[in-house]
Amino acid sequence: MLTRGHARPDAAVAEADTRTSWCPSGAAHAPESLVLGVRSGLDGQVTYLADAVPAAAVLDQIPEDIEPRRILRFASHCVTDCANRRGGDCTLVERVVAAYPAPAGGAVPRCHLRAGCQWWAQAGVEGCRRCPALATRHPADDELASLVADPDVTPEQLAAWTAARRD
Ligand code: SF4
Repeated sequence: MLTRGHARPDAAVAEADTRTSWCPSGAAHAPESLVLGVRSGLDGQVTYLADAVPAAAVLDQIPEDIEPRRILRFASHCVTDCANRRGGDCTLVERVVAAYPAPAGGAVPRCHLRAGCQWWAQAGVEGCRRCPALATRHPADDELASLVADPDVTPEQLAAWTAARRD
């Protein structure tokens, strides 16, 4: 278990690896939350931190009127009562892979979470290549992102939705 203030955060990911999967689109305020990366540039793509930083170390530096997940991506433990959970799998990454094309020639980002990441364990390179473009919070008028975030939407429905708009 991560003990804040004692274990190095990146060591905590490796230590927790045998017991716990980490969500790369996680909560900011969970006790174990880590900063995964910074949303930057005009497109808001995530730039991953070289090393994990405890979320608690930065959250009190963010002005109160800014939702932390607008500017940072956080990783936190996958939890059994998550709406995206199906057995040991994450249905969110299934929808992400179904809905969004991987960037052409996109490399897998250098990422401190990989050893414990649920998306890497489940979807491998296909999850990682789409990961930087994702926002934990998306604009309400982004219809595709809203569908991807909906646990009741299946990958097949997403594929049909995107195909209909291509035609
Ligand atoms: S880049 Fe890959 S390993 Fe890193 S958080 Fe994203 S999906 Fe997980």
